[in-house]
Amino acid sequence: MSTHTPRSAAYTPDQLKRMPFQYAQPQGMLPDLVVAPVVPEDERIWVPQAENVWFRPLCLNRSAGYWINLLRVRKSGVLSRHRHPGPVHAYVIKGRWRYLEHDWEATEGGYAFEPPGETHTLVVDEGVTEMITLFNVQGCMYYVDPWGENVGYEDVFTKIDMCRQHYEAVGLGGDYVEQFIR
Ligand code: FE
Repeated sequence: MSTHTPRSAAYTPDQLKRMPFQYAQPQGMLPDLVVAPVVPEDERIWVPQAENVWFRPLCLNRSAGYWINLLRVRKSGVLSRHRHPGPVHAYVIKGRWRYLEHDWEATEGGYAFEPPGETHTLVVDEGVTEMITLFNVQGCMYYVDPWGENVGYEDVFTKIDMCRQHYEAVGLGGDYVEQFIR
């Protein structure tokens, strides 16, 4: 018969509570990614996407095929019509927007889930001077006409390319994008 004394017996409950994980992280694990502030102080970090439309990368995940970015819009009207092959999560930091296909509106402080398979048309209404939303987009944005015919796409790789070109052009250096890639 053997007795087993757990390692934790040598410590007080308070010591145990404050003790970090005692071993190394798994070999090959990707590094953490921390971005602060999310809304950047350096204007150059915003990557122009169209006139008065920018995005700001937070996590460009080429190993799992998704990206998380802020979208900033300073104009009203239709931004794009697109189909989502994968899910999208959205958190509205500032302003508001809606889809022509729905009667709900995404408002400041709100969260929205866009299910895989959905096609919708993003609109920013008159009177909204600035909209900033955090989007987590899985897979791709598949841009379509009103009948679903493809007119373009974006994925994590087109996002990385746009960032690299922009950061090169504004003097941050193309490699500035690397910090956001996992
Ligand atoms: Fe969408």
